Amino acid sequence: MDIHFTPEELAFRSEVRAFLEQNLPADIAEKVRLGRRLSKEDHQRWQKILNKQGWYAVNWPVEYGGTGWSVVQKHIFDEECAAAGAPRLVAFGVNMVAPVIIKFGTQAQKDYYLPRILRSEDWWCQGYSEPGAGSDLASLKTRAERDGDHYVVNGQKTWTTLGQHANRIFCLVRTDPSAKKQEGISFLLIDMDTPGITVRPIITLDGEHEVNEVFFDNVRVPVENLVGEENKGWTCAKYLLTHERTGQAGIGLSKAALAHLKDIAGAETVAGRPLIDDPLFRARIAEVEMRLMAVEMSTLRILAATRDGGVPGAESSLLKIQGSEIRQAISGLMRKALGPNALPFLEPELEPEFDGEPLYRDYSASPASQYFNLRKLSIYGGSNEIQKNIIAKQVLEL
Ligand SMILES: Cc1cc2nc3c(=O)[nH]c(=O)nc-3n(C[C@H](O)[C@H](O)[C@H](O)COP(=O)(O)OP(=O)(O)OC[C@H]3O[C@@H](n4cnc5c(N)ncnc54)[C@H](O)[C@@H]3O)c2cc1C
Repeated sequence: MDIHFTPEELAFRSEVRAFLEQNLPADIAEKVRLGRRLSKEDHQRWQKILNKQGWYAVNWPVEYGGTGWSVVQKHIFDEECAAAGAPRLVAFGVNMVAPVIIKFGTQAQKDYYLPRILRSEDWWCQGYSEPGAGSDLASLKTRAERDGDHYVVNGQKTWTTLGQHANRIFCLVRTDPSAKKQEGISFLLIDMDTPGITVRPIITLDGEHEVNEVFFDNVRVPVENLVGEENKGWTCAKYLLTHERTGQAGIGLSKAALAHLKDIAGAETVAGRPLIDDPLFRARIAEVEMRLMAVEMSTLRILAATRDGGVPGAESSLLKIQGSEIRQAISGLMRKALGPNALPFLEPELEPEFDGEPLYRDYSASPASQYFNLRKLSIYGGSNEIQKNIIAKQVLEL
């Protein structure tokens, strides 16, 4: 096992860094650094810059527009993007439905959808979860009944991230209610403009509109929008989830957040001294930094093992738990560093008529909202409890 980067990998890191310095728009990087809201347009602008460079669809096979990078190169790219303040890519199109279409789709589906994803013409969302089907996803009830050359879809999806921006949704639907749970499910591509679809916002703990409920009322979907075979959608669903979990440790994002935390702790003062000089606060930062270094070493170890074509197994569950807990711990420390200033809803600056001297620093507004928002990390993509079940079964053989 060799966990050091090769000279070629180090040269690749320099190439990525130089590209980011020249091409990442400063206004977008500033929003990311300060945890401000990114618009749909911000995301699409960055996606188009990456696509022009040929670096948007890094996980696709080369013949469809992918990069052909090794897992180590992808890791380096993610790390450099996070360090530079590039937005995290919205995965639903490029990194979720596209791999499924590439693996299971018809030639017509590949020809139509993949170029549209590359050009950022479609915004996809994920219609998996339902009110009664989250961890136990195979209990889903949204029904699709065949009627001539259409399916008629009725039911409800929930927690649909950024569905308010989407013009397309990929859905797991039940096509055979009499079959065993996993066996009667199909994978459908649905145009969000089809009559009978209603999107309603869910406002989360941080006061944001990030997730939605999506209702289907006699929605007619052409049969050519079925991916893979009817009733075999569970295979597509599981394949997609392996892509969703890849990279969920978020090492690069945690490193960038840790650097930001240190900046804040250097600027905030307690009894006239920078907070970062306080031994207790320093120890807290050191503790989370050591955990981050450990999970980074584990990631590199696992990547080293997969460099020659291996596939990460239950290790990805370990990384997901550790990575999400670390990001949550860093956001908790940011709030502690800011004290009462991490209560943005108290800021008079939020009043529309406020035109005075800012009372707080530019970084004060977002840590509270981020703290609440990041609770999601231990829930989505398979909750941390479910990851522990996987480890218990596959690693500990319990
Ligand atoms: C912010 C956010 C965005 C999301 N975006 C999307 C999206 O875009 N598309 C989509 O389809 N879904 C999305 N989800 C849904 C997400 O995948 C589910 O929330 C997740 O799978 C958990 O399901 P649930 O919420 O129904 O909780 P439940 O499955 O009801 O679980 C409730 C609690 O019980 C625990 N639990 C459940 N079963 C077990 C078990 N067997 N052993 C031990 N503990 C267990 C869970 O860990 C959890 O703590 C999103 C969720 C969030 C929070």
